[in-house]
Amino acid sequence: MTDTTKILTHYDLSHANTMALSCVARHAMILDSDQRLADDLAVALAFAKNANLPIFVLSGGSNVILPSTLNALVLLPKTTGTQLISQTEQSVTLQVACGENWHQFIQTCLNQGYYGLENLALIPGLVGACPVQNIGAYGVQVSDFIDKVIAYDLQTGQACTFDNTACDFGYRHSFFKDNPNRYLISHVVFRLQKAPNILTNYGDLADVSGKIASKNGRTTPTPMDVFDAVVQIRQSKLPDPAVLANCGSFFQNPIIPIKQFHELKAKFSDLPSYLVNDDFIKLPAGWLIDKAGLKGKGIFPILTHEKQALVLTNHHPRHASQHDIKTTQDFIINAVKTMFGVSLVREPVWLDEHI
Ligand SMILES: Cc1cc2nc3c(=O)[nH]c(=O)nc-3n(C[C@H](O)[C@H](O)[C@H](O)COP(=O)(O)OP(=O)(O)OC[C@H]3O[C@@H](n4cnc5c(N)ncnc54)[C@H](O)[C@@H]3O)c2cc1C
Repeated sequence: MTDTTKILTHYDLSHANTMALSCVARHAMILDSDQRLADDLAVALAFAKNANLPIFVLSGGSNVILPSTLNALVLLPKTTGTQLISQTEQSVTLQVACGENWHQFIQTCLNQGYYGLENLALIPGLVGACPVQNIGAYGVQVSDFIDKVIAYDLQTGQACTFDNTACDFGYRHSFFKDNPNRYLISHVVFRLQKAPNILTNYGDLADVSGKIASKNGRTTPTPMDVFDAVVQIRQSKLPDPAVLANCGSFFQNPIIPIKQFHELKAKFSDLPSYLVNDDFIKLPAGWLIDKAGLKGKGIFPILTHEKQALVLTNHHPRHASQHDIKTTQDFIINAVKTMFGVSLVREPVWLDEHI
């Protein structure tokens, strides 16, 4: 007989998303044992099939916009554990359970002398989510350090392994993003380096990590100095979701044709830009929103952050709804479109009541 005692009903997710949106899931299951994961999933899949419900995986909830009612079985991965798979003189291969906290995992790696992930410090969320949008920051993408992703196919219940190529990683993109709600990533296998490779040529990272190094009596920064510098910079620019609810960057940086860029540059001479290729230019969405006069603005209770216009913040936690987000989102999209003729696209995953 199927043991459904772990299936919870009317599960409150208001504290399980960093945007602090009020949300109740019709059903939920906490996946808390790596050893029993296959059995728990078999129960979850059978239950969902029987109840004709879709399945949604919610990890740290830092990249999702939830509806007030989620008509689904929500899987909450909490499994922990890191296993050393192999090592050479140069590198180490670690298999990490999906429920490990991302920032703490990087800290543990650095303490053990395993390097590479330090630029990705303080990104909220859990390890199992990091391949989904191929998290990146300060010139580094996690895909550079992922050897394999181990997952369960939620349609068949079968375990499957994806090597780095099969993950089809791109900028904030992966195979898993293209196939939403199809897989539960149970483990990520990382290959990290034993020799430091300091990458500080992004923004003010060289300056801040250099200052931390010299304060510690060193001429060049260590990976731990870079880690501390990233934490310091992020804390000075981005709101802490525990203090002010948000889900990080709300819009992607738009990519426009060169011709349109030159027309805009003629009107806005201070317009920053990053060359993508011979035909396209990427613009910073935060600058466009700021220039449209919307830094710190929006429609209450959802306002852009006063230090970083790209981040939407929730000033009425656990009361504001997805509808409030949409109101401010559309207000910003319209203002930017009117002023620049550029269409902004949302970054976080948007979930409807019926997935
Ligand atoms: C303040 C702040 C700063 C941020 N800065 C950055 C940044 O610099 N760079 C960056 O890339 N992102 C950033 N983010 C976005 C976010 O932290 C990352 O996308 C993170 O990886 C999401 O992890 P999570 O555990 O919260 O995932 P969730 O929000 O719970 O889920 C995100 C998506 O991944 C899927 N998913 C999650 N776990 C699994 C799993 N185990 N198996 C299958 N699918 C899964 C979910 O179904 C959902 O579609 C930031 C967010 C905040 C709030």
